[in-house]
Amino acid sequence: MTFKKTLVLAPHTDDGEFGCGGSIARFIEEKKEVFYVAFSTAEESVPPNFPRDILRKEVKEATAKLGIKKSNLMLFKYEVRNFPSFRQEILDDMIKLNNKIKPDIVFLPSTKDTHQDHQVITDEGFRAFKKITMLGYEIPWNNLTFDTNAFIFLEDRHLEKKLTSLECYLSQFGRTYATEKFIKSLAVTRGAQIGTKYAETFEVIRWVLK
Ligand SMILES: [Zn+2]
Repeated sequence: MTFKKTLVLAPHTDDGEFGCGGSIARFIEEKKEVFYVAFSTAEESVPPNFPRDILRKEVKEATAKLGIKKSNLMLFKYEVRNFPSFRQEILDDMIKLNNKIKPDIVFLPSTKDTHQDHQVITDEGFRAFKKITMLGYEIPWNNLTFDTNAFIFLEDRHLEKKLTSLECYLSQFGRTYATEKFIKSLAVTRGAQIGTKYAETFEVIRWVLK
């Protein structure tokens, strides 16, 4: 792959790991630089037995497991489920990120994702990054449908890193999709579509060859 700088846009902490954690692990192994931005640490929806800022701690651990440098992790504090009220602020932040990082490729939720916060990141992400390649990642429990028109091959070690990274989210434990079985099965399914053991799939939102 010819691109060098990758930017992952996660509406909430852990969306990036679910959607493209294996690919992130692969890119870092290939010495590409990866930046990860989460727009909310969802303080309003943390279970009562955890500190409200627990997701800040967990996303730092999870992204470090994937190999993302501390200085490449950025966290915003938008209120969870209320992104539609902050569209312009979110766009402004994205334009600043584009100017600062100058990524070659951006990963973000797909255009078929139904979560209101994810939709804002995809819509405003398109406005901010439309001059470069954009791939929409797969969040099956949110998606109405999914166009599997791009794939990234993964090896066992990439999938292992994705699983280890997601294990850092102890405050989110118990969700049906946050299991090793689910994540592995999805990687096997996507791999079977292209004749490899594991893969992650993406919707091509924009493909720009420079
Ligand atoms: Zn989310």
